[in-house]
Amino acid sequence: MQGVTRTYDDGQPVHALRATDLHIAAGDYVSITGPSGSGKSTLLNIFGLLDVPSTGSYKVAGAETVTCGQALRGAIRGQVFGFVFQSFHLLAGRTALENVEIGLLYGPHRRRKRRQLATEALERMGLAHRMLADPRQLSGGERQRVAIARAVTAQPRVLFCDEPTGNLDSENTEVVLNLLRQLNTDGLTVVVVTHDPVVAAQAGRLLQVTDGVVREA
Ligand code: ADP
Repeated sequence: MQGVTRTYDDGQPVHALRATDLHIAAGDYVSITGPSGSGKSTLLNIFGLLDVPSTGSYKVAGAETVTCGQALRGAIRGQVFGFVFQSFHLLAGRTALENVEIGLLYGPHRRRKRRQLATEALERMGLAHRMLADPRQLSGGERQRVAIARAVTAQPRVLFCDEPTGNLDSENTEVVLNLLRQLNTDGLTVVVVTHDPVVAAQAGRLLQVTDGVVREA
C-alpha cells in the first residue's frame, strides 16, 4: 500500500489511519500490535479488502484494489485471502467437517472434492478424530483449529488473523501458534493482529500502530 489513509466521517472526521506505505512480501509473517483505538482493525480491514482506503493505492498481487470495483475486490478476497477471528465464527448445529466445507462453497469444487479437501484440512490441524463433532462440543482450542482449517482449505495465499488467541488459554495459544508457524513455513503469508506479546513475537516482522501511524518495530 502507498499513501493509504482511512478517515471515518463521524460528524467530525476521525483520522483512523494516517498516510501509510507498506509492502508485505509473499511468505512474510507479520504481527500488528498497538493500543485499543490505535487503528489496528482499520488497517486489517483494508488489508483484507473488507474496507476501502479514503486515499492512496493498495495493490494485491499487482492488481490495484482501490479503484477496481466491488466485484473484483470480492473475487480477490475470496481467492487470495483467508480469515481467522477471535470468536471463531463457527456454525452450531453443523459438524466441524461441514463448517470447514463452508470455506470451499464459493470455489470451483464439487461436493465430493469439497469433502475431501475439508477432511484433509482438519487432519492437518490434528482434528481427524473430531470431524463429526458439533462446535459446541469442542474446546476453545479445537474450535479455533476448525476455524483455521476452514480459512486455509481453499489454499489462500494470505491468512489474516484478528486476535486468534484472544479467547484461548496459554496451552491452546501454543497449539495455535505452532499451526500458524507451520502454515507460514509451508509458504502461507500470515498477518496477525494481537495484544499478546508472545503471539506478536513469533512473527518475523512487527508492525506497531499508534494513533493511526504504522511503524516497523
Ligand atoms: P483498534 O483496532 O486498534 O482498536 P480501530 O481501527 O478500531 O482501532 O479504530 C481506530 C479509530 O477509528 C478509533 O478512534 C475508533 O474510534 C475509530 N473508528 C473505528 N471505526 C469507526 C467507524 N466505523 N466510524 C467512526 N470511527 C471509527
